[in-house]
Amino acid sequence: ARHVIPGGVNSTARAQWSGWLPYPLFVERGEGSRLVDADGNHYIDYLLGLGPMILGHRPRKVTRAVVDFIEQRGTVFALPTADEAVLAEKIVAAVPGVEQVRLCNTGTEAVLYATRLARAFTGKRKIIRFEGMYHGFSDGVYWSKHPPIDKAGPDHSPKAVPQGPGMPRGVEENLIILPWNDAQALADVLAKHGEEIAGIITEPVMCNTGCILPRHGYLEAMRDLATRHDVVLIFDEVITGFRLGLGGAQARFGIRPDLSVFAKGLGGGFPVAALGGRKEIMSLVADGTVSMAGTYTANGIAVAAANAALDELGQDGVYGQLDAVSDELRTGLDLVLKQAGLPAYTVGVGPLMQVWFASKPIHNYRDAERYADQGLFRRWFEGMLERGVLFHPGAYENLFVSTAHSREDIAVTLAAAKDVASGL
Ligand code: PMP
Repeated sequence: ARHVIPGGVNSTARAQWSGWLPYPLFVERGEGSRLVDADGNHYIDYLLGLGPMILGHRPRKVTRAVVDFIEQRGTVFALPTADEAVLAEKIVAAVPGVEQVRLCNTGTEAVLYATRLARAFTGKRKIIRFEGMYHGFSDGVYWSKHPPIDKAGPDHSPKAVPQGPGMPRGVEENLIILPWNDAQALADVLAKHGEEIAGIITEPVMCNTGCILPRHGYLEAMRDLATRHDVVLIFDEVITGFRLGLGGAQARFGIRPDLSVFAKGLGGGFPVAALGGRKEIMSLVADGTVSMAGTYTANGIAVAAANAALDELGQDGVYGQLDAVSDELRTGLDLVLKQAGLPAYTVGVGPLMQVWFASKPIHNYRDAERYADQGLFRRWFEGMLERGVLFHPGAYENLFVSTAHSREDIAVTLAAAKDVASGL
């Protein structure tokens, strides 16, 4: 049975997803690798709350830590706590590019602080960002991930463009939006405008135009160019952080950004985010030159959740196991797609992946717009959903694996995939 929830509810939540889902899906509860909807349907969940649930839904120790905290200590915020300092030490110990850290509540906020800090540190104004990346829902900087490509100019001399409806006028003057995975475009723009550019913000793996891996040497080139032009390199690890390993993508790939932004996986399902980086830059936050505040910043619930989540993720073998299960899924999906003779393949790294319906390799947003078959993706998504497997409904979105996914989940998923693929 489906759609027992009547229409006309006084909430815009349903409208937000209406273009994405074939029928209204109201979530009742989460349990490990599963979601249960209001009609009692069970789904193997690869959406994972848009990524945060690396430990699966309702991770026991995180839940326990939060409940204990509330019952024994209240909510506690506004003044610093020792727990906050303990969490900061854990993040610093885990992430290579982080020497000092400050907490906040969402990825969006952390990104705003990162760009504010880059501007304060360099005394420059413009920020380079990349087509197809998403850095949060703030008006001022990063509202949309879909610039109009037709207005963005040729691949090798792109222009800053307004990003979409609702974008306040003038914002684009401070942004330079480039195609990703193109070191030459970056080098050219820095050579021309380096004196005005405060920061480069990038995801180390593109996660908001599906999953796209950096080309060999691209992140290294970006690191090198940023250093040469006195530009602050910001890694937005909101998705990759704590997912590709305790040290995020920067540890996995061996690249050290100047600032890093974390959210999602950090809190094991509770809202908490962090900005960290080189001491020299973070000291502007520490000494109050750059303000980074907020009523709920580093509140006790969020900190308790994050401390418990990082302890769980830090146990021996967690990431090895997560990668192994994820590789099994990815290899299996590739085989299913190949056997069905579909123009499709997977791209991914560890528990972060994407099924691309495309006949050519996709290296950035421009390629995705040119080559990805969204219609085929749609039928694939709906077929899987009907069989009780929930992927992200967007053609350009990732599929996430959690430590709660079992080999049995993978087997059930692959059987469903085989069935769906044969009918596409
Ligand atoms: N950066 C990236 C890469 C993201 O994927 C997101 C959220 N999807 C954000 C920033 C914004 O984070 P939040 O939703 O916590 O504000």
